[in-house]
Amino acid sequence: MSDLDKKIFAEDKASYVPVFQRYKVVLDHGKGAKVWDVDGKEYLDFLGGIAVNVLGHDDPRLVDAITKQAHKMLHCSNLYYTQPQADAAEKLVKLSGLGKTFFGNSGAEANEGAIKIARKWATAQDPEKVQILTAWMSFHGRTYATLTATGQPHYQEGLGPVPGGFDYVHYNDLDELEQKMSEKTCAVMLETIQGEGGVFTPAPGYLEGVRKLCDKYHALLILDEIQAGIGRSGKFFAYQKYGVKPDIVTLAKGLAGGVPIGAFVVTDEVARAFAPGDHGTTFGGNPLACAAANVILDTVPQPKFLQHVEETGAYFKAGLNRLAEKYPALVKEVRGTGLILGMELTIPGNAIVNKALQKGFILNCTVGKVLRFIPPLIVTNDQVDAVLGVLDELLAEASEHPEK
Ligand SMILES: *Cc1c(COP(=O)(O)O)cnc(C)c1O
Repeated sequence: MSDLDKKIFAEDKASYVPVFQRYKVVLDHGKGAKVWDVDGKEYLDFLGGIAVNVLGHDDPRLVDAITKQAHKMLHCSNLYYTQPQADAAEKLVKLSGLGKTFFGNSGAEANEGAIKIARKWATAQDPEKVQILTAWMSFHGRTYATLTATGQPHYQEGLGPVPGGFDYVHYNDLDELEQKMSEKTCAVMLETIQGEGGVFTPAPGYLEGVRKLCDKYHALLILDEIQAGIGRSGKFFAYQKYGVKPDIVTLAKGLAGGVPIGAFVVTDEVARAFAPGDHGTTFGGNPLACAAANVILDTVPQPKFLQHVEETGAYFKAGLNRLAEKYPALVKEVRGTGLILGMELTIPGNAIVNKALQKGFILNCTVGKVLRFIPPLIVTNDQVDAVLGVLDELLAEASEHPEK
């Protein structure tokens, strides 16, 4: 640990709200899927800023677009039109097959807006049509509505009272969903692929079944693709992989490749529930963020780019499955698709993440035992091999010293 590291740790401890359990590394810059810390040590980044840096670090197209836009105008308020915002909204409408876009600044804000417009749409028909059903083990954000939508009680602890009207079902359980639904259901809100909760993909037929139930009870289907969207599944929208279309889809994380942004995209019918003044934002959709989003929206949906995600993801998953066969006592299951993959361990994952970090690999563990891989979408098979290699080493070590 260098003097510079120590200085920064001390500053952070003295002046930052202690909500993050940070790794003892001070990151400085990156290139592609690699990052370097302030002491010059190199790491392979298989977290990608939590599914944000989809083009990796220092992508010339993104840096160029941001630089040009910064010279022109960073911000101008939503009281005026800008070309970057109009372009980005139009691209999302075309890609999604939905009707209208709204931009915010984060995932939580995208979901907050989606919940608001769904309630407005439903209560115009029946003031009691307010029930919003979400899944256990979901993650939808940290604002009051979105932490209530999040089906993990610890996110709500000590924060009550939380907003009413939310109820929870088990992901992939259609019978339970049907039992809880009625004409009073406003919306069913699900992650197309659960990320934070441990990387769970929809069972065959599940999302189609949810879509049918929503149609039966005139409820909206809201799909949260803040993590699984933007090409990560191998399709631009993960729902395109499962043959369903939502009424509302939410995006954030990778949408502007690292610049803060969020969006909800809705059908024209749902969009009509909002009139001028019903929702708004100062920063959301500003020209800087939208200039960055336009690069992502021009790059990621290209068939070759998505094919790379699909193929690299399949290669990675096959390698993880080989490790699962080699270490059956340590690996319970490998899950996921494209470049959102999870390896559920029988032991806590953090020791592995920490040891990997020392060896120059940025990995991630969620819900205690699931190693979650959400790298930049530009990673190569060689980089995947490097990660598989270090996992092999660390799993071998863990089987020899099961007490650690
Ligand atoms: C990260 C995430 C959010 C919250 O996004 P923030 O930008 O942190 O507010 C919501 N939903 C899902 C599925 C996420 O992965």
